Amino acid sequence: MTNIKKWEDNDHWVEIDLDLCIGAGDCIEVCPVDVYDFLNNKVDAENIGECTDCMACQDVCPNDAILKHSAWS
Ligand code: SF4
Repeated sequence: MTNIKKWEDNDHWVEIDLDLCIGAGDCIEVCPVDVYDFLNNKVDAENIGECTDCMACQDVCPNDAILKHSAWS
């Protein structure tokens, strides 16, 4: 059973596999508008509405937990 969570706000959205998320925090560090934060040792994208589609978070996740993103559709 997968543990995929989707956050969305208007034109911006992201899907993250929380089983793959190891809580590395790289996306939190790289996101210029603080979309991400920690929640229970996993990443949370509660501020997805602030996303600028810069695509930086895709490259930094060490475990490819960020599955889909509005920036890449
Ligand atoms: S695409 Fe850029 S602005 Fe959007 S969540 Fe990823 S790092 Fe943040």
